[in-house]
Amino acid sequence: MLRNDQLEQWDRENFFHPSTHLAQFARGEGAERVVRTGSGVYIEDRDGNKLLDGFAGLYCVNVGYGRPEIAEAIAEQARELAYYHAYVGHGTEASITLAKMILDRAPKNMSKVYFGLGGSDANETNIKLVWYYNNIRGLPQKKKIISRWRGYHGSGLMTGSLTGLELFHKKFDLPLAQVIHTEAPYYYRRPDPAMTEEAFSAWCAAELEQLIEREGADTIAAFIGEPVLGTGGIVPPPKGYWDAIQKVLKKYDILLIADEVVTGFGRLGTMFGSDHYGIEADIITIAKGLTSAYAPLSGSIVSDKVWKVLEQGTDENGAIGHGWTYSAHPIGAAAGVANLKLIDELGLVKNAGETGAYLNAAMRDALGDHANVGEIRGEGMLCAIEFVSDRDSRAGFEQPGKVGPALATALLQQDNVIARAMPQGDILGFAPPLCLSRDEADTIVAATVKAVKTVLG
Ligand code: PLP
Repeated sequence: MLRNDQLEQWDRENFFHPSTHLAQFARGEGAERVVRTGSGVYIEDRDGNKLLDGFAGLYCVNVGYGRPEIAEAIAEQARELAYYHAYVGHGTEASITLAKMILDRAPKNMSKVYFGLGGSDANETNIKLVWYYNNIRGLPQKKKIISRWRGYHGSGLMTGSLTGLELFHKKFDLPLAQVIHTEAPYYYRRPDPAMTEEAFSAWCAAELEQLIEREGADTIAAFIGEPVLGTGGIVPPPKGYWDAIQKVLKKYDILLIADEVVTGFGRLGTMFGSDHYGIEADIITIAKGLTSAYAPLSGSIVSDKVWKVLEQGTDENGAIGHGWTYSAHPIGAAAGVANLKLIDELGLVKNAGETGAYLNAAMRDALGDHANVGEIRGEGMLCAIEFVSDRDSRAGFEQPGKVGPALATALLQQDNVIARAMPQGDILGFAPPLCLSRDEADTIVAATVKAVKTVLG
């Protein structure tokens, strides 16, 4: 058995952690936690602390921790065939079955699934497909991609560029030149407080149209957006937003990529966010909830319209020059099949809608009137609280980005509840597993009230 102190030392000496203050961590400052096991909405660390995970890992453990059905499916697949590639027409029962299960659940205009490993690589695939698509159509100039400020689409070269958060650009020489950003549908931060939601949606669409006109529609290939902005602050779109945006995109022959890495497979109380908001995407990105993170797997769901051009492209040019060694990895696929079955059997899409609404309402009841709470917003099993120094002016704090982390720390230290301080602004985010019960939602709310009292009074 390892002694705990050994593990911490090895961690600080050897492990390059993602999204971490590297210098502080190496110096022995900053939190260190070794997570040992999990069950339902709880994880347990090596010291025996049991924590209610109000963010489902990174909004991905949708069915909750410790599901034997998925663990057994993974073990069985590993015993039978741990790996074979998916190139030149190879597959496994699990990968073929999962593709069918995804298409059975996806919007009707979707045609095929390409499997990757995570959300970032799936979005890299999507941009390559979009460029290929326009080359095959004889439109080699039509290549730029529009994403939104505060969007999150990954942290690769292209996907880090699509991401509209400063932290992911600064000092990395991003964004790349082919990526341009437009306004976020962030109603709380609308330019004119008198605007209705519909008027703000029309303003966002007008901003988008002006950007397209400025750049030239013949240079713009696609628009990418999350149905609900996630890492950028958990921001549901204002009324009429997706209708208004889609009208503009159709007018200028611009493809729509719906990044459903967070919203796919039930988080909003519908199977896809596209169903929820009437989005007719040309490509849909999926990851996280596809396997509930029991194994790494992502996908690009491609519509009939795009697929036809891809077929034409391979007739003209030979096999498509795109693939990863681990595309459609059998273990990920087996986890995906077991996970999607479990989501159906446990009625988790419905529960996400109902218990998510309960969590949001309880949070509003408890904290809606607090002097430092600017907005409480959410959709399905997503909830966020935006903190401000002054409710009337919506002004932030003198030192931005401190209150959110202080609240997350207080929640953890006082009540063993995990919330996420969102990376831009003073926003506390919740995205619990979709199996959350009302009692567990009450625990989250009570802990949040206590943390707010501790930090803000
Ligand atoms: N797209 C969205 C909407 C995400 O939230 C994320 C991750 O949080 C990604 C893409 C990137 O996924 P990954 O971290 O698996 O690369």
